[in-house]
This record gives sequence, structure tokens and C-alpha cells, in this order.
Amino acid sequence: MNRPLTIALSKGRIYKDTLPLLEAAGIRPVDDPVTSRKLILDTNLEHVKVVVIRATDVPTFVERGVADLGVAGKDVLMEHGGDNLYEPLDLKIARCRMMTAGVVGAVEPEGRMRIATKYVRSAREYYASLGEQVEIIKLYGAMELAPLVGLADRIVDLVETGNTLKANGLEPLKEIAKISSRLVVNKAAMKLKNRQIKELIDALSAAIKE
Ligand code: AMP
Repeated sequence: MNRPLTIALSKGRIYKDTLPLLEAAGIRPVDDPVTSRKLILDTNLEHVKVVVIRATDVPTFVERGVADLGVAGKDVLMEHGGDNLYEPLDLKIARCRMMTAGVVGAVEPEGRMRIATKYVRSAREYYASLGEQVEIIKLYGAMELAPLVGLADRIVDLVETGNTLKANGLEPLKEIAKISSRLVVNKAAMKLKNRQIKELIDALSAAIKE
């Protein structure tokens, strides 16, 4: 018997890039989260549902077992912390880099640098690993603005093409981590629904593009 399986995805890039992988595993959502307002999507398989939630909530849903599996960016997982999740697959989608950036040509200020970011934990760990004392300023968006208005000396953000930085007179400086989306699995579900989840992992694994 197939036990019900719930997969947590976030809207946008991850959803779009995960669909072909799920399709290769024989799973197709019946509803489109863009046009439908449903948060729980039926799929072609009666026992498989997809929940569409905020990217930063995916680790919480999976950790607490309300979703058996999920897809989350490595950036989100690094910020979430904890080791209550299995991370069996790098799906190699939504790839980018977490980087420090600053105003083009700006010299490092004397004393404590001020770092604006929404990645507080990753930034703190990165600068601690360098033995640098910094002040972290938490922002929820538009990080690029912070150095321009004198709020911070550096930002920590995701960089894909570098166009956003460039358009704002900023330049990438140091790479903190390579980012891509990962499959995460609830630890208890991995035991209780082992065969189903293993089959899904194998099918996704075969569909991953380098
Ligand atoms: P780019 O201009 O191509 O360097 O893209 C940078 C902007 O897109 C930044 O605002 C990032 O936060 C966002 N971004 C780039 N890649 C990703 C990703 N894989 N996941 C989420 N946001 C991203």
C-alpha cells in the first residue's frame, strides 16, 4: 500500500525548476499554484500532495513532519540550521553563489565593518571563521541599497549573473558558499515511508542535470 506523501515546494524559481524533476519521477501537480489560490495541490497520484509555502518555511514543515519531503535552497538551509533533516540530494537547480559585496573600489573601513544581510547566521559564521569582528544589520530585502545610503559597508547576498550588483554600483568580493536547491527529507518519514521515498530519490537523482 502507498502511504500518503506530502512534498513542500516554494513558489517561483524552485517550483518551476523542480517540476521537470518531479515529472521524471511520474509526479505532476494537477493545479497550477500561479493561477490557483490553493496551497495544497493534488497531483496525478492520489497519494501524493504538494504544499506550496514560503521558501524559508520549507525546512520547518519538513522538520516537523507536516511535509515528508521538500525542496529548499542551500542558503535557506544554512540559515535554518539544525540537523533534524536529511539532505540526500543536490538537485543542481536555482544555482548561484552567496557572496560579500561592496561599493566598487571602496576600501575596507577601519574598525568594525557593518554587514547588511538577510542571511544573518551565514554572515556571522563566515566573518567569525575569518576571526573578524563585524556588526550584522538584518534586512529583509533590497540589501543592495544599504552600502549606497551609508547603512552598511558590505552586504551578504545571493549573486547569479552579478547584474543586480552592477546596476547598483556594487561589486562581488568574496564567495561564502555555492548555492543550489536540495531535496530535504523528514527523518521519521525516511524510516516509515522508506520504499516510496527511496524510489522518489532514485527517480529524481536520475533526472538531475549536471
Ligand atoms: P543576479 O542579478 O543575476 O546576480 O541575481 C541577483 C538577485 O537575484 C539577488 O537579488 C538575489 O537575491 C536573487 N537570486 C539570484 N539567484 C538566486 C537563487 N538561486 N535563489 C534565490 N534568489 C536568487
